[in-house]
Amino acid sequence: MGGGFGFQDIFETFFGGGQQQRGPIPRARRGQDSLLRVDIDLSEAAFGVTKSVDVDTAVVCSTCSGSCCAPGTSPVTCAVCNGSGTVQRVARSFLGQVMTTSPCAACQGFGTTIPNPCADCSGEGRVRSRRTVKIEIPAGVETGVRIKMSGQGEVGPAGGPAGDLYFEIKERRHAVFTRQGDDIACTIEVPMTAAALGTVLELETLDGMREVDLHAGTQPGQIITLKELGVGHLHGSGRGSLNITIEVVVPSNLDEEQSELLRQLAALRNEERPAGRVTTHSGGVFSRLKDKFSGR
Ligand SMILES: [Zn+2]
Ligand SMILES: [Zn+2]
Repeated sequence: MGGGFGFQDIFETFFGGGQQQRGPIPRARRGQDSLLRVDIDLSEAAFGVTKSVDVDTAVVCSTCSGSCCAPGTSPVTCAVCNGSGTVQRVARSFLGQVMTTSPCAACQGFGTTIPNPCADCSGEGRVRSRRTVKIEIPAGVETGVRIKMSGQGEVGPAGGPAGDLYFEIKERRHAVFTRQGDDIACTIEVPMTAAALGTVLELETLDGMREVDLHAGTQPGQIITLKELGVGHLHGSGRGSLNITIEVVVPSNLDEEQSELLRQLAALRNEERPAGRVTTHSGGVFSRLKDKFSGR
């Protein structure tokens, strides 16, 4: 190129230049990153889990150790570009004569050719392989979280360094519990009589059977919170809560005897002809309903 501000410099300034590559391109390149999905259950997200995942990837060819050459042979300097990897041409344009530099087609810019490619990898320096990878999935992960394993992706061409391997978490829906951050939630229906009198419910939680105390006079939409039965915090110790929403079921199929008993109860409570009570949005029934629905 020589010193000064040559014609090619102007040309490259106007047209974006192109490759500033000087000399041959290295044959070895970094392998690509890979992304794999891992499905987990809610309880695996809650407690963390170690999973073995089969990964299809590329590994260094053991026959040529990534050199791409058949054993006992080696690359030879490209005769077309004399190993520079580039060829220069003089082109005519509306600006006059312009020198252009482009990658050598004979060697694809590598500066060398491989007359005897390794048969086992077709001269790629790497071969497809399947291996099993163990991933430690911490408690508290959720759908979309990615776990990175540096240098565990596929190796690059000609024995280039390996890319990174990413696992993206996808959490399966649980039949009973929905997840709200590190809390989990479910709904339990109880008969009106149980809500009024109080009872003890049995619930299969992520930690096994637990008793849930229902106080006498439990209201529809009331939420019972059991601490430390939710999902483990991803950062720090401890776990979220299990929030149980109580649904009170009013019987709609009373027989004559049951109706009579309820009429007696109503009479005892002076509720035979209740006036009803208008509640405001700041308290009472409406706000409880609102809490219940906005909590979803
Ligand atoms: Zn090979
Ligand atoms: Zn060449």
